[in-house]
Amino acid sequence: MALYVKKFGGTSVASVAHIQRVADKIIEDKETGHDVVVVVSAMGKETDRLVSLSEEIDYRGNGASRELDVLLSVGEQVTISLLSLVLLKRGYQAESFLGRQVKISTDSSHNKARIVDIDTKEIQKKLENGVLPVVAGFQGEDERGNITTLGRGGSDTTAVALAAALGADECQIYTDVQGIFTTDPRVVENARRLERITFEEMLELASLGSRVLHTRAIEFASKYRVPLRVASSFDTGPGTLITYEEKSMEAPIISGIAFEGDEAKLTILGVEDVPGIASAILGPISESGIEVDMILQNISADMSTDFTFTVNRDDYSQAMEILTKVSDQLGAREVSGDNRIAKVSMVGVGMRSHAGVASKMFEALAKESINIQMISTSEIKISVVIDEKYLELAVRTLHAAFDLEE
Ligand code: ASP
Ligand code: MG
Repeated sequence: MALYVKKFGGTSVASVAHIQRVADKIIEDKETGHDVVVVVSAMGKETDRLVSLSEEIDYRGNGASRELDVLLSVGEQVTISLLSLVLLKRGYQAESFLGRQVKISTDSSHNKARIVDIDTKEIQKKLENGVLPVVAGFQGEDERGNITTLGRGGSDTTAVALAAALGADECQIYTDVQGIFTTDPRVVENARRLERITFEEMLELASLGSRVLHTRAIEFASKYRVPLRVASSFDTGPGTLITYEEKSMEAPIISGIAFEGDEAKLTILGVEDVPGIASAILGPISESGIEVDMILQNISADMSTDFTFTVNRDDYSQAMEILTKVSDQLGAREVSGDNRIAKVSMVGVGMRSHAGVASKMFEALAKESINIQMISTSEIKISVVIDEKYLELAVRTLHAAFDLEE
């Protein structure tokens, strides 16, 4: 007998008919003799609807973030009740729990709170008495009893944290895709579902543009070594198991290709090559809350150097404004930019022990006459920046070159 934490996302509980199907999955495990704790999101686009109601009022001053959490946490309360009703009607002793009833304690950073502790006593007692706990995802309570939420997509994190606290055998995230694929099947038709992938690779893929799982949930699972499974709530496939690397595992060289289309790059040319120049350029950018992704500094020829970095496309014009000011102060030669770029990344733990991945990647792109503008690497990934118009071609080319298809 195992203990599973099963989490169902918004699309899986979008209607009462959907919730009936979710109940089937839960009952299947119960009937096999397993213990189950359920975590659910709000129904469909409910959280978006709540957000837009608050946007009609458009108040962002003091106290607003607290009230937003009171509002946003409502969606999950609806789902836990409906699912519990369905399970009760089918003869299972279900009982719903809000975050604070569990209790899930968080810090006080409203709208992006972090879980600091989960008291599992109540849930454990319920499990011992044969009760099926149905827990509201995405929400918690701070020290002073304020309702908090964990940031959009945060129910994944609730599920993983609960699984870690309960010592569950697996945390299973049910969603509208069949698992983690070698790349987005909407771009590459014959993308392949991965049987398993390591936490490390999944974290890279998530931060490089794959949006299947909440990044914080992966970090949490990795830290507490909770095996994490992503599967579809619409069929019976086994999904993808995300787990730690085992010595016996024959690691594929490349596990997946992630990409991000909405990027922009900025360049400052001819700045003096002296200590402190990078911080003089990037300091004002990060102070304004803009996240910088890749950074590149050239070697200096004549005591001057060029400096390029990338940001999200939404931040492009603000970053350009700041950089132009900095350029005047530093007496740089010129500032330029391009907001039509994209980033393609290949990830795989097998890269550690295989040379030649980068050159094979560059050769494949060259054959398609795709120009590489920037390159960045880490132990298990290689990213390139290219013209946005070649994004899909690049992804398909690399997917084929590295034999990732079905
Ligand atoms: N309902 C929340 C959201 O839409 C949390 C979640 O779905 O994970 O972001
Ligand atoms: Mg979600």
